[in-house]
Amino acid sequence: MLFQISERILRVLKALKEPRIAVKDVVKEPAHKSPIFRGRHTVRYDICTGCDACNKICPVDAIKMKPLPIKRPNKVPEVNLAICIFCGLCEDVCPTKPEKAIKLAGGDIEMVTHDGTHETLENFWVRVNIPEEWIEQKKKEEEEKARKKAEMMAKKKAEAEAKKKAEEEAQKKQEIKSPKGEEK
Ligand code: SF4
Ligand code: SF4
Repeated sequence: MLFQISERILRVLKALKEPRIAVKDVVKEPAHKSPIFRGRHTVRYDICTGCDACNKICPVDAIKMKPLPIKRPNKVPEVNLAICIFCGLCEDVCPTKPEKAIKLAGGDIEMVTHDGTHETLENFWVRVNIPEEWIEQKKKEEEEKARKKAEMMAKKKAEAEAKKKAEEEAQKKQEIKSPKGEEK
C-alpha cells in the first residue's frame, strides 16, 4: 500500500516537471504549422480595385471591407485572423494582375502568446492603414480625370451639334436650288 502511494506521488511529481504540451508546442517549436501554410495576409491598397470578390468568396466571413472616400478603390479588405481558416480563396479570386492585391504571404502568425493566452482580438486583424497623402493624391487624380472626361463630352456634343447644323443648312440650300414640286 505504502509502495503504491509513493509510486503515485513520484508519478505526479514527474508529471509536474514536464512542460505543458500547449506551452511546449507554441513557444519552443511553433506548432500546428502545415507544410502548405502560406502565412498571414498582406493587402496592397494601391492596386486593389475594391471589387469585393475576396469578401464574397470568404467561406467564414473573415473579411470586412473598409470604406474609403475615393472612387477606386472605394473599399479595401481587412481580415480577422481569429476567424480565418487560411484557405487562400480570397487570394485565388483576386483579379488584379500581375500581382494579387490580397495574398497570404505575410509570414507566420502566432495565434497564442508566450504565456499561452490570446491577446486582445484586435491583434488578430490585418488592418489596412492608408496614408492621408495617398488618399488626397487619389482624390486629385479622380477630379482631374472627371474634368477631362467632362471636357471631352462637351467637345463631342459641340461637334455633333455643329455637324447637325451644317447638314440642316446644306439641306436648306438644296431646297432653295430645287424647290419641292418644281418640274424638271
Ligand atoms: S484565407 Fe480563406 S478564410 Fe481566410 S480570409 Fe481568405 S477566404 Fe477567408
Ligand atoms: S483585394 Fe482583390 S478581390 Fe479583394 S477587393 Fe481588392 S481587388 Fe477585389
